[in-house]
Amino acid sequence: MGAALAERLARLSVRRVSDLLFVLPRLYEDRTQLTAIGSLQGGARAAIEGEIQLTEIAYRGRRQLLTRVSDGSGMLTLRFFHFSASQQEGLARGTRLRCFGEVRRGPLGLEMVHPEYRRLTGAAMPLEETLTPIYPLTEGVPQGRLRALIQQALHELERSALRDWLPGASALPPGLPSLKEALVYLHHPPREARLAELAAGRHPAQRRLAFEELLAHHLALKLRKRSLKSDAAWPLPDDPGLARRFLEALPFRLTRAQARALADVHEDLTAGTPMVRLLQGDVGCGKTVVAAAAAARAAGAGAQAALMAPTELLAEQHWRSFRAWFSPLGETVALLSGGTPARTRRSALEAIASGEVRVVIGTHALFQEGIEFARLALVIVDEQHRFGVQQRLKLSEKGQKEGRVPHQLIMTATPIPRTLAMTAYADLDISVIDELPPGRTPVQTVVVPEPRRVEVVARIAQACRAGRQAYWVCPLIDESDELRAQAAEETAARLAEALPGVRVGLVHGRMPGAKKDKAMLAFQAGKIQLLIATTVIEVGVDVPNATLMVIDNAERLGLAQLHQLRGRVGRGTEASSCVLLYRAPLSGLARERLKVIRETSDGFEIARRDLELRGPGELLGTRQTGLAQLRVADLMRDADLLPGVQRTAELLLGAYPEHVAALAARWVGAGERYGRVG
Ligand code: ADP
Ligand code: MG
Repeated sequence: MGAALAERLARLSVRRVSDLLFVLPRLYEDRTQLTAIGSLQGGARAAIEGEIQLTEIAYRGRRQLLTRVSDGSGMLTLRFFHFSASQQEGLARGTRLRCFGEVRRGPLGLEMVHPEYRRLTGAAMPLEETLTPIYPLTEGVPQGRLRALIQQALHELERSALRDWLPGASALPPGLPSLKEALVYLHHPPREARLAELAAGRHPAQRRLAFEELLAHHLALKLRKRSLKSDAAWPLPDDPGLARRFLEALPFRLTRAQARALADVHEDLTAGTPMVRLLQGDVGCGKTVVAAAAAARAAGAGAQAALMAPTELLAEQHWRSFRAWFSPLGETVALLSGGTPARTRRSALEAIASGEVRVVIGTHALFQEGIEFARLALVIVDEQHRFGVQQRLKLSEKGQKEGRVPHQLIMTATPIPRTLAMTAYADLDISVIDELPPGRTPVQTVVVPEPRRVEVVARIAQACRAGRQAYWVCPLIDESDELRAQAAEETAARLAEALPGVRVGLVHGRMPGAKKDKAMLAFQAGKIQLLIATTVIEVGVDVPNATLMVIDNAERLGLAQLHQLRGRVGRGTEASSCVLLYRAPLSGLARERLKVIRETSDGFEIARRDLELRGPGELLGTRQTGLAQLRVADLMRDADLLPGVQRTAELLLGAYPEHVAALAARWVGAGERYGRVG
């Protein structure tokens, strides 16, 4: 095989001959029998035979080759947009052809676009005995070539067995075939195979491969966790009692769920192995204070903690909360973000390098060049879904010193179902905060069409008169920050005009940090009553006196985003509401989303519905977990396999460790995503 072909195949993840076996058909064609042209149906895939009546080049928008074929029962047009002169010659009038393809209705009646075809010579050509696989194409690898290569690989499989890394049937859910049986079946299903089942990905042969793929990913994550855990970390006992004093000084008591999560964290921090813990909990459940208590452990032990937030706004807000909690205890908290003035930054950097400052808050600016920590023992990542795994690892690398790595606490408000979390985050330990602090009143959500905007504006006036505050989140008109900022500015101007006497403020991603900060501070202090914002305020912003949120163009936002935005209200004791303003007509999906968000405020339920509507790849975020790149399995469709995957993973890790790396390499591509697999 030439280098060019090898490179093209690599795009299908094919590097070795055996990888070819795992390039699975997109669909199948029945070429075991011929269909008379006269009885063809539009939309069907069929095999036909006929004689060429005419071949000509036509110009209908594009240059194309049209070939008309007849079998006596009817006439079919073959249409080619890419063709060579020799191909044209080969399709001369009178030639007999056998063609395979999808039939569709065209301007000249039924046609096939770029069908596969063979010229028939005198000798009879036998029909296929099994269904014909149609493989996913990559540029430069024709279907016929790929099929022939895979055919060759299957012959190899007959001779030299491909290792089945699953030790016997007990490692598989009942009713699933062996690896070899599954592969042979999927590349050549018998003609009586149930095509609908195959198309839905529910055939036992497909489930066998899906199971193995999920298992391989799960194992790769487990290996990664193991390798992380084999490093040493600073034990952070609460000897000086700073964490205890921190908790005693809080103006509230932790909820039971917070206390449980903190107990997990404290146990991890006491050990000399690194904590790698995901702290999962719905918006507003109070993850920040748990993280701060962990930071108190690090500071108390004379080490350092760094919290990384996804936006400057959020970093600044965390800084203010941390300062309020830590200053009375005599701990300084430093802030490092893009907006920090050069002089403040310089002195902060010095204090961080000398170890004088032990608690540091920042954006991704934290892991940039030139930032040195004296002894970074704890890395906290807020709103993990906004970061990639790589960014998290980069920050941890900052802390690698004297043979020790930092503990990691990762916070996320993406509430994913438990079995899914256990598979997708198998490299992490998980604590869940499943309870909101007391005294919250549920947010009432209404869906309002655009023509009733005036009523919504009146509602804002009313809330402001009652001493409350409101958010107006602006439409995502365009993907560019520039245009979004413009839209926000216009809306702010119009609302200020419609609401005389109401103090209106504005924040958007295009504003300089200081200006944004000033507006946010003014809103927090109650000096601004109505805050117009782009979705920059989506994560984390906390102003309990804000009781009304209007989301304009709500139909354009996803469920997770709507839920996050709505989480900005309902943070105080006063009843809050959320108005979803939409423009008709609504797509089916948008209608469904608005319905879900109106019906429930339970983050887990919303995540479940989101999973149904969008699929897990998007829910988890492609950057977040390798599981988004599944080839055969589908986390949603194959969710019932997950408990078995976990059981078999334990079995392999315990009794067949030498199979683990091999499985991970087969499906995950060791060394690429997981760095230290094996
Ligand atoms: P999230 O989990 O969404 O990050 P935050 O940590 O921002 O939530 O907490 C939301 C608000 O709840 C903050 O104002 C925080 O101070 C407050 N809070 C946290 N825990 C408690 C508690 N146990 N009792 C009362 N208020 C709390
Ligand atoms: Mg938060």
